[in-house]
Amino acid sequence: MQLAKRLSNIQPSLTLAIDAKAKAMKASGIDVCSFSAGEPDFDTPDHIKAAAKRALDQGKTRYTAAAGVPELKQAIANALLRDNQLTYSPDQIIVTNGGKHSLYNLMMAILDAGDEVIIPVPFWVSYPEMAKLAEATPVFVITTEATGYKITPEQLEAAITPKTKLFVLNSPSNPTGMVYSPAEIKALAVVLEQHSHVYIVSDEIYAKILYDGVTHLSIAAVSKAMYDRTLISSGFAKAYSMTGWRVGYLAGAPEIIKAATMIQGHSTSNICTFAQYGAITALNDSQDCVEVMRQAFAERRDVMYGLLTSITGFTCPKPDGAFYLFPSIKAFGIPSLEFCEKLLEDQKVALIPGIAFGLDNCIRLSYATNLDTIREGCDRIRQFTKKHF
Ligand code: GLU
Repeated sequence: MQLAKRLSNIQPSLTLAIDAKAKAMKASGIDVCSFSAGEPDFDTPDHIKAAAKRALDQGKTRYTAAAGVPELKQAIANALLRDNQLTYSPDQIIVTNGGKHSLYNLMMAILDAGDEVIIPVPFWVSYPEMAKLAEATPVFVITTEATGYKITPEQLEAAITPKTKLFVLNSPSNPTGMVYSPAEIKALAVVLEQHSHVYIVSDEIYAKILYDGVTHLSIAAVSKAMYDRTLISSGFAKAYSMTGWRVGYLAGAPEIIKAATMIQGHSTSNICTFAQYGAITALNDSQDCVEVMRQAFAERRDVMYGLLTSITGFTCPKPDGAFYLFPSIKAFGIPSLEFCEKLLEDQKVALIPGIAFGLDNCIRLSYATNLDTIREGCDRIRQFTKKHF
């Protein structure tokens, strides 16, 4: 069987593959400590579940408009105003099957063969593959620990060509947990304002998970030019612990949202109707649950960061957002996939090799799990490095 040529250089999602493997091992009775997928271990808050159950009872079980029910689009617009001081009308918003789908729809809507997509390295695993699926060319810009794995304005300027169509910005970052400061965002905007052919996708799915008083500035809020050319991608999975609900969104220029809606209209249609009603409640009701989970993540970050960096060989900037650590494993002298495979085999600890994110000398640990698992897993990693290195 000859598969489509467009799949010839596409890799499977390692985050999903390793998470599935860890879950299968657990289900078969193996005591695995999983720091693999970025999936909060909390149950979805009760009031959100109740809203979806109510929607089912009220017969909200039919198709909705492909781009989402008007109440949810309005709730998203209100939240963008409340959180980012950004004004969007309902025709500037599409509700998608998770944040991932919003990015996919966007890339399918605006990219052609030959277009270049600037992707800072390390990157979230799916960005380059989505660009390639849209037949565009990823252009990788390698960042370093010295800049907190953040692209500098000089690097961005040097990467832009007449073929650049899209720049992918992700803050707080998956996999590093780094957050661009407002000054850093404004400095990138200064570069982008000079290149009116470049669109920006700002993946803000972790924007509510911040520590130590740092603030999130959406690049769309910097200037009118940035507002016009930025597409904000976000979703409910991380902040509201709704990974399995698959509700996300894209906000930006009406013509791009219209194109994404056309693609969605011919592929998935609307997002699960009663899930949309749960999402409305998530945004419109009290945000206390978000803060409770954020505080738990903050404690877990401190514990995991302290334990991991006390093990000889790991160096890691302290993240100020999301729920990942991204330490260097250079000192151990083996590729990240081999390190992770050996660790899973030997100590039953699952994590994601840095190669999935474009940096082979690092590994990613998600601390969206309970403190006991974090303590036990770090202890196993300590034993592993003692034994093998
Ligand atoms: N985004 C999460 C992660 O990076 C979930 C898995 C995925 O969608 O890649 O672990």
